[in-house]
Amino acid sequence: MSPTLVHVAPHPDDEAVGCPGALLHLLDRGWTVVSVVTSLGFSGQWERRRAEAEEASARAGFVPAFLDPPLNLDLDGDLDAATRRLGAELPAIVEEHDGSIVVSPSPHDVHHGHEAVGRGVQRAMAALPPDVRWWMWGVWGELPAPNVFYGFDQTVLDRALHILDAYAGELERNDYRPFLTGRAMANAVTGSERVFGFGSPSATTQPYADLVTEVRLVDGRFMASDPHYLDQGPEPDAEYSVDLTPWLDAPSMHELVGYIREVREAGATGRARPPS
Ligand SMILES: [Zn+2]
Repeated sequence: MSPTLVHVAPHPDDEAVGCPGALLHLLDRGWTVVSVVTSLGFSGQWERRRAEAEEASARAGFVPAFLDPPLNLDLDGDLDAATRRLGAELPAIVEEHDGSIVVSPSPHDVHHGHEAVGRGVQRAMAALPPDVRWWMWGVWGELPAPNVFYGFDQTVLDRALHILDAYAGELERNDYRPFLTGRAMANAVTGSERVFGFGSPSATTQPYADLVTEVRLVDGRFMASDPHYLDQGPEPDAEYSVDLTPWLDAPSMHELVGYIREVREAGATGRARPPS
């Protein structure tokens, strides 16, 4: 049986944005990629967004899966309840597919829905076998300690863009396609040093890269693997020497200073008033 990676998306489209190059690479190497979509937006959007997610998975070659009913990740919903539900339900999904890597946003990904899902995955990891690895990506919040580097070329980026293109409704609101390209370009440059250490030379001749933070639970602690290229490991006897538990458990920005970037009313922009 082929090894399986389970991607956990807060919203339909996150699987196309978080670390799509890395997902496609494992797919090409024979992995099964299960794309779990945990929420579908407002109830009037469920049908459209589910159909878009199914189309995206079909384009990618992923196995689509949906939480039923979807999580309520609205700011005015019960985000703690969403975290608890994901923590309770995800282990069975991962075990059903015999997943050996779980991928999600980090619990510090700033967007309230991403953080709720990241914290839910963190809880779920405690109920999974200790050899299951957790990959975190950062979209709204930069990862402070990425440790896996995957450089890729235009062909892979084009495939990721084609998957993202399935989300016509979301792209209409805000077009993430340039972000996918620009972020991957930035990762190829800064990722060399963010993963392998400041002062390191360029880690790739490819124009684009995905970065993730990989941890494993060792004696109840979330330990980071040594910095490596995606294809290089980690080896079975790899060192997991850095304890990232204090970072994962640390309060989020919104817990420290309150929500400052959340738009509560439909049509509101969150734009500051001009100075008087
Ligand atoms: Zn999202």
